[in-house]
Order: sequence, then C-alpha cells, then structure tokens
Amino acid sequence: MEDIISRTKKLSTFLREKVNSLQLKHCLLCLESGGSAHICTACSTDLTPPKHPCSRCGVSRIASDAVPCGRCLRQPPHFDASTSAFDYIFPMNHIIGQLKYGDKRYWARALAQAALPAFQQAYAHISAPILIPVPMHKSKQRKRGFNQAELLARSLARYANAKYSNKLCRRIKASPPQTGLNRKSRRSNVKNGFEASSKLPQQPLIIIDDVVTTGSTVDELARTLKQAGALEVYVFSIARRSMD
Ligand SMILES: [Zn+2]
Ligand SMILES: [Zn+2]
Repeated sequence: MEDIISRTKKLSTFLREKVNSLQLKHCLLCLESGGSAHICTACSTDLTPPKHPCSRCGVSRIASDAVPCGRCLRQPPHFDASTSAFDYIFPMNHIIGQLKYGDKRYWARALAQAALPAFQQAYAHISAPILIPVPMHKSKQRKRGFNQAELLARSLARYANAKYSNKLCRRIKASPPQTGLNRKSRRSNVKNGFEASSKLPQQPLIIIDDVVTTGSTVDELARTLKQAGALEVYVFSIARRSMD
C-alpha cells in the first residue's frame, strides 16, 4: 500500500514538472511554442502601455506633457510616483479576470515577466526597494484563497531581483469592491482601511497591485505608510484602467 502511495506521489510530481516545462515552451495566449517567455513576442505587441501617462499619478492623457496632470497639481497624491505597465483593455482585462476570478494563478508569473521592462524603466533608479502587495482583508483572502497582488509582487520581485514583503501593512477594513463607484465614493470606501507596521524599514517601498483605476486605494495605502514613517512610497500596477 505504502509503495503505491509513494509511486503515485512520484508520478504526480513527475507530471507536474512535465506540465510546468510544457507551459514554459508554449505562449499562454496563443499556445504557440518555441519561445522562452510565458507570453510570446507576437502576443506581447497586443499588450499596450498607457498613453502619455502623468509623471506623478500615471493617468493616461491626450498628449504628452512634462508637467503632472491637473489633479496632481491641485492635490498631489501621497505616493511619490505611480506607473502601470499596460492599458486595461483586451486581452489584458481578460487575463487579469482569469487570474482573479478564474483561479488561473499561473498568470501571475507571466504578467510579472511581461511587466518587468516597464517596472525597470520606471524604477531602476530606486535603490534597494521593497515590493509590497496591496493587502487584502483576511475574510476576502480566505474566500478567494489567495491575494493576486501578493502573487504578482512576489514574482516581480524575483524577476527584478528586489526584496518582497507582505508583513509591512495589512487591511483592517473589509471594504466592498471599488468597481462601479465614482471617484469620491472610492476614496471614502478605502479611507482608514489599512494599518502599517510600527517598524517600517527606511528603504523605498513600491506598492504592487494588479489594476489601478483612480488610484484611491494605493493613495490611501501610501498615506498610511508615510504616516507610519515611510520616506518614499511608489506604486506599480500591471494595468491601468480608465475611469470612464
Ligand atoms: Zn503568443
Ligand atoms: Zn497626475
């Protein structure tokens, strides 16, 4: 009996490794084989970066402008800068939906790999940063089984050779989802929703999230972290969704 169990275990490990190696050789989007990246070069061209982003908050604008957007000038955000790798349009919205709601966790690694060039372009000058995922309330995490921002931040940290921590802040309010709320309601929905560690390291922190829309959530988290003593707080998201 024991022998059968151990053989079954061995076989399952063998199959898992086989599947992993196969996945590496096939693009997750078109299933084309041959490349070493999770998303092939041809499919990568369908993932478009946000156009003319504001240098501070990362919002897309009609034309490029060296000056931050009007909203940032009127009321600067608490974070020092926010950047997103891609626009939240097809197929990116579909991929992120699969990761979050379809339990396709393998997308986290693929997205982190695809977003790495944008991350490095934005934050290569930041010395010894710590990547921190936007925390999920424990009731929600229990229900979903994972926090996609954690998976993304951990993978991105590995690719970028940076530090990762999910111990520096936590979500203390189980706020309803931001989807469908306007800018003002989004802000009040997340107000005082986070708590930061009393022993924050003095290194720059980069908040990682899957999607940033108005930036209310990451701004509130940045406010909490700065209030707790963080000196520099940046934001990086895989995708940027426009409000309209
Ligand atoms: Zn492909
Ligand atoms: Zn702005």
